[in-house]
Formats: sequence, structure tokens, C-alpha cells
Amino acid sequence: MPEITVTMKLHIHTDDVSDRLFCELTERYAAACTHVSQYVFDNGFPLNYMVLHNAMYQDVRGTFGLKSQMAQSVFKTVTARYKTVKEQLWQNPYKYKDENDDWHYITSTLEWLWKPVVFRRPQADLVRDRDYSFVENGQRISVNTLGKRVRVTYDVPPCFKKYFDGSWSFGTAKLVNLKNEWYMHIPMTHTVSEELDVTKPSHVAGIDRGLRFLATTYDEKGKCHFVNGSDILKKHDTFNRVRAELQARGTKSAKRRLKSISGRENRWMSDVNHQISKTLADGYGSNTLFVLEDLRGVSFAEENLSQRSKHGRNQERSWSFYQFEQFLTYKARMNGSDVIKVAPDYTSQRCPKCGRIHKSNRHHETHEYICDACGYRSNDDRVGAMNIYELGTLYVSGDTNPRFGSRKTE
Ligand SMILES: [Zn+2]
Repeated sequence: MPEITVTMKLHIHTDDVSDRLFCELTERYAAACTHVSQYVFDNGFPLNYMVLHNAMYQDVRGTFGLKSQMAQSVFKTVTARYKTVKEQLWQNPYKYKDENDDWHYITSTLEWLWKPVVFRRPQADLVRDRDYSFVENGQRISVNTLGKRVRVTYDVPPCFKKYFDGSWSFGTAKLVNLKNEWYMHIPMTHTVSEELDVTKPSHVAGIDRGLRFLATTYDEKGKCHFVNGSDILKKHDTFNRVRAELQARGTKSAKRRLKSISGRENRWMSDVNHQISKTLADGYGSNTLFVLEDLRGVSFAEENLSQRSKHGRNQERSWSFYQFEQFLTYKARMNGSDVIKVAPDYTSQRCPKCGRIHKSNRHHETHEYICDACGYRSNDDRVGAMNIYELGTLYVSGDTNPRFGSRKTE
């Protein structure tokens, strides 16, 4: 059964005593993580809990004075971090062009790392019911620190109550300090009871994600829908301009403003992604199979940008697309729908009418696709969505890894 996980960020209220205890705990815990990380790095990346436990348990308890449960959590924290790094390396393969102008991708692995991961920020992972629990009818949280248990209050977000209805399970929380305020990040998981039968969805919607149109969809009724991105791009450009100015200035106050701007921009982009995914998930309703391209290693950079800002934009965009995917998956699954990812090969070069694959059929300047074989003509984003939709229908009919173009016809 599919699961949905959301992370709740709770703002914790502390007094001098709990503040000191939290500081001590999170500093010690982070230091222990860095210590174990060095071992992982030196010993060929054994990302296995038991291996680390056997090799380091006594050391971690003795050197850092952590209780048994916390020492065990350290191994999990370090393993999880390296797995994330591994995933990130896999998401961003090293790529180069050969003499025929063909791109090659080399997947980077942990062995490519130059130094071990360092846990700079004080933090501690707390296991539910052992290291933390909700007490006094959920009014307070009781937290296990190095010395003793403390009870703290927290801001209760308006939507928080529903997570106590029994259908959500609370995972291991991360205790962190941001700008001298304490937070607990708690992942909450909900198992979906109504699951989409992917062999007979009511709707299949192919989604092409792009720059000009943030999302173009095409579905089984032949309906095409564009979510226009031009307003968003404009705002994005404003952010970029202000950012460039501040970067050029380079003063302390400029750096501070830069930080607050990027925070604001992230929140605004998250809002946009929320809106688009909500529109799609609500618009199609339950029993819908949403089809997205798997955009690992795909570059979106435009021509007229410097190498550096190209890279920056690329990172931003992959982050934004990744977030969109997360939001859509969450909302779809809450609705009894689901999301799959398909290979992006040739989705912009293939004629959706006759299947011909030809790169120069796509005209970037006019945003048109004109088939040189059958004469079919359409907007290029629409063509992308049609092809992605078609891959979705192949998936529905049983092809678990649908893709175009084993034969290249150029
Ligand atoms: Zn054609």
C-alpha cells in the first residue's frame, strides 16, 4: 500500500534549563555523527547499521556519553545521510560530450567524495516513545536529554490535530536549532487505504514540465491544458536581478538581505508548486494516473547565461521540479490517484501521430513541432505532453518501463 509522509516542523519553547540541555545533547550528538562518519569514509562506506554498531558502539557510548538508544540512532543518522548523498550523486551524474556531440553520463558514487560528511549543525535524532513523546493530552512534549527528561511546550499549528486521529504514525524526530530557536522536525506517515489500480485508471494525464509553460497536460479525452509560467518567470527574473546586485555589493548587510531574499523566493516557489499540484490533483480527482518524466541528469540551462548562473538555475529548477513531484504525489495519493515517472527520451522529438523521431521537427524559436513525415503540426509543449501521455497508456497496458526510440532515425 502506498504511503504518504509529511514532515511537521514544530517550534519548541524552552527555558534556560531545557535550552542548555538541548545544546549539550545536540552538540554531543553531532560530534558523535562526525566521528562515525570518519569511520564510514575510512572503511569503504559500510552503510550497514549492524556493521557500524559492532565496530563503533562502545566507542560512541564511551567517548560521547550517549545513552544506548541515542548511540544506535547515531548509526542510523550517519547511514541515512550517506544514503542521501549517494542519491544526490546519482541524481547529478557527471556528464561530458564526445567528439560526435553525444552526451555521456557517468554515475558518480560515494567513492568520489574527497572528505567525509561533517555534521556541523548541532542536532539529535529522537525516537518516538523512547526519546520523545507527547504528554498532557498533546500539550507538551517530553524529551530525553543526556541528563534527564524535560517537558516543553510548542506552537500547535492549526492543522496539527488531524494527525492525532490514529491514522498517522510519528517517526524519528530531528531536534535542531535555527537562529537560536529550537525546532523538532517530525515525519508523519499515513498509509493510503484507497489505492489506484494502475491497470484501470479513470484518467491518464501526461505532464510536460517546462519553463514557458510550467506544466502542460494532455489526457485520455485529448484535452490539453497549459499552466502559464510567464508571470512566474518575470518574478523569477526580478529575484535574480536583485540577487546579482546584492552579490556584486558583497557587504555584510547585502549578504543578510541575500539570505532573506532566497528564503522568500523558496517560499514563493513552494507556493506556486502547491497551487499547480493542487489544481491538477483536484481537477482530475480520484483514480487518475499522472505521468511525469524522470528528469535525472537532464539539463535545462538556457544559452545566454554564464556557466555559473546556468549551473545555479539548473539546480534551482531541478529542486523545483523535484518539489513539484513530491507535492503532486502527496496530493494524488490522498485522492486515491498516483504518479509514475517515465523515461524522457525523445518525448520532444517524436511525432505523436505517426511515431517518427526527428530532432529538427522541433522548432525552438516558434515553439512548434512540424512532422516531416506526416505533416502533423502542433505546439511543442503540447507534443511533449502527448508523448508522455502515450508512455502512460503503455504503462497502464503492462509495460513497466515504457520508453521511445531504441531506433534513432536521423
Ligand atoms: Zn508524423
